[in-house]
Amino acid sequence: MADERFSTVPLSLCNTMKQSLSIKIEGLVQGVGFRPFVWKLATSLSLAGCVQNNPDGVHIRLEGDTNRIKQFLDLLQTNPPPLAKIISIQTETAELQNMQDFQIQHSETAGDFSTHIMPDMSLCADCRSELLNPADRRYHYPFINCTNCGPRFSIIQNLPYDRAATSMSVFDMCAECAAEYNNPADRRYHAQPVACPACGPRIIPMLPDGTAIERPWRVVWQDALEQGRIVAIKGIGGFHLACNALDETAAHLLRTRKQRESKPFAIMTPDLDWVRSVCRLAAEEEKLLTSRERPIVILKVKNDFPALKYIAPGLDTLGIMIPYSPLHELLVAFTDTPLVMTSANYSSEPMIHTNQDALCKLQDLADVFLMHNRDIVNRCDDSVCISTNNHFFVTRPGRGIAPFSINCKNAQEAVAFGADLKNTFAVVHHDRVSISQYIGDLEHPGTQNILMTNVNRHLDFFKIKPQVVIHDLHPDYFSTRLATRFARDKNVPAIAVQHHHAHLAAGHAEYGLAGKAIGFALDGTGYGTDGTIWGGEIMVFDRQQFRRELHLKPVCLPGGDMAVKHPQRMLIAYLHQAGLFAAAKDFLAFSPDCDGILQMITLGVNCPLTSSTGRLFDAVSCLLGICNVQTYDGEAAMRLEAAASPHEIETLPYTINEKTIDCSLMFAHLLQHMQHEVPADVLAGRFHNMLADIIFDCAERLTKKHGSLPLVFAGGVFQNRLLVEKILTHKKAADHKLFFCSYPNDSGIALGQAFVGISNVKSDE
Ligand code: ZN
Ligand code: ZN
Ligand code: FE
Repeated sequence: MADERFSTVPLSLCNTMKQSLSIKIEGLVQGVGFRPFVWKLATSLSLAGCVQNNPDGVHIRLEGDTNRIKQFLDLLQTNPPPLAKIISIQTETAELQNMQDFQIQHSETAGDFSTHIMPDMSLCADCRSELLNPADRRYHYPFINCTNCGPRFSIIQNLPYDRAATSMSVFDMCAECAAEYNNPADRRYHAQPVACPACGPRIIPMLPDGTAIERPWRVVWQDALEQGRIVAIKGIGGFHLACNALDETAAHLLRTRKQRESKPFAIMTPDLDWVRSVCRLAAEEEKLLTSRERPIVILKVKNDFPALKYIAPGLDTLGIMIPYSPLHELLVAFTDTPLVMTSANYSSEPMIHTNQDALCKLQDLADVFLMHNRDIVNRCDDSVCISTNNHFFVTRPGRGIAPFSINCKNAQEAVAFGADLKNTFAVVHHDRVSISQYIGDLEHPGTQNILMTNVNRHLDFFKIKPQVVIHDLHPDYFSTRLATRFARDKNVPAIAVQHHHAHLAAGHAEYGLAGKAIGFALDGTGYGTDGTIWGGEIMVFDRQQFRRELHLKPVCLPGGDMAVKHPQRMLIAYLHQAGLFAAAKDFLAFSPDCDGILQMITLGVNCPLTSSTGRLFDAVSCLLGICNVQTYDGEAAMRLEAAASPHEIETLPYTINEKTIDCSLMFAHLLQHMQHEVPADVLAGRFHNMLADIIFDCAERLTKKHGSLPLVFAGGVFQNRLLVEKILTHKKAADHKLFFCSYPNDSGIALGQAFVGISNVKSDE
């Protein structure tokens, strides 16, 4: 990338004394203090000219000493503003106009507007020290920000990013703020959400009935926490429910009220010593935790504390984040305890983001509300990340990360609707695929509306008229129906992309791979081309097409979705397939309905077939007595991973017959070992080892057939850190090039769909 940038600098530069240059910079260069940075840099080098935001990036005109112009270009690349991401710099010699000074010119708003949207940014160090400095005029002001930090995506109504097109437009700047805003030398020059206690938004504490509490919010907050109350807090991308994470009773109360049996809550604390006392915090995890994006990082728990059983029941991991906004910085400063911070919603409903909705829907959940009067335009959940063996995975792309984009070579404008679970969508425009924030699970009608609103808003942002609509192959997905209706309305073609091809294409695109690859799509559920449910798929693929080379041997899914909720059904199906059910029945304590389930299987009633790896995890998790009922997606697999002994080196047997991978032998061995009282953690460890063996066995077979190809890993199963570790440290790992998709679960589907969709449109021409 760096070479490309430099190659466009004309050689003639070296030979003249005074030069005029026109420069075009593309990337994340708008709304990040780029123009004042350019102004300062040019002025400090005594260069004349001007800088302007344009639809296709930032344009600079420079005049002056050749060496200084070279210096300017060097510094531009080596030391850009903290939030800027330069993708390309193009330079061209221009005619000397003998300009006298350097000026910032107004934004050009005509034409299509194709710049990036910046995600919300965590509090910068300068603003933080002002926030905590009693002498500063923004001391303890929860909405302090500058060009290097503060809200972006969550307040944007339209592009270009300008105060008038944000939810800050209703606040008139006071004279002091305006002076900062208009001074190119100030850190707040053109910081669109600039505000202070005199002119900006403020916190309003309220009771559940909507009456304002006439006390300082700080006191209300402190009292509430002390009394073990649940507080609804309006943050950056939506509302959280919070309580004291060390208060067992409060944590229990929150879990009961949220009607969420066991889905884990996240914790917010700035106290890394406390984090270290409770969790294992590797250097790479600390880096991620304290990164500018400030995601929730999933950490391994090493020491229990009393409230943990209500915060992350049955798991060995905990989601931790440190404060990211000035409000959160103050919340923790005022209480000195870790906080439970969980998205404010009822079970699977979308996160609440308006004051009105909060009062209406959270009445019975929260005792106190900390409202504010800046509207959240684009709701955005906290991002969730995992880091292991120097690979990091985004399991929920949200605040601080989304929207983000990946470059592509393409002339088409398109929209990809993603999958039904953990939905995100993607829009293709101007050689780039932009991926949305996490939308949620589409089974909820409210979430479907949010998807459509956000799709339309993104198309508006970038002035896109899709020429093609892309969706999952599943005919009954809500996202498929929304996409095909959308395509009909716009009179454009719709393209269906197979779920696991999309998973793998996301990894292919992320790493910029060219040509064919061997893909391991190990996943929960995805509709296959044969109408069965896939999820244990080993493919040879590129961005256009795939061949299903190998897959897990299909097994019954007794009762469809019921089998996902009740892993015992999967276990019975697997044992029946392996001819082990009768023998196992005496030994295992099945529930009384097991005979009915067996009958369903033998008669084939309501028993779709699946090759899902997720269901294999479920069956093993149930067999080992680890999880009998799944209360949220992936619970049985997560608990199996949690139970597994990481240092176990033995493995379990399997067979591969032509195209199918058969785990019958594994079940026989597990039963035998259990009868000999080999502990569950040992067997869970061996199960993980076996999966890694299967992967490299398949890789070897396909390499023989197709030659050496990169291995791409995608699908929900790769959120399993132990498995990733087993693969990376496998004795055969060095024989291959390994690529793990950073968006392993269905949040990555839209990204892959977009690349498969546009590749196929191109090939048709
Ligand atoms: Zn700042
Ligand atoms: Zn002000
Ligand atoms: Fe999937």
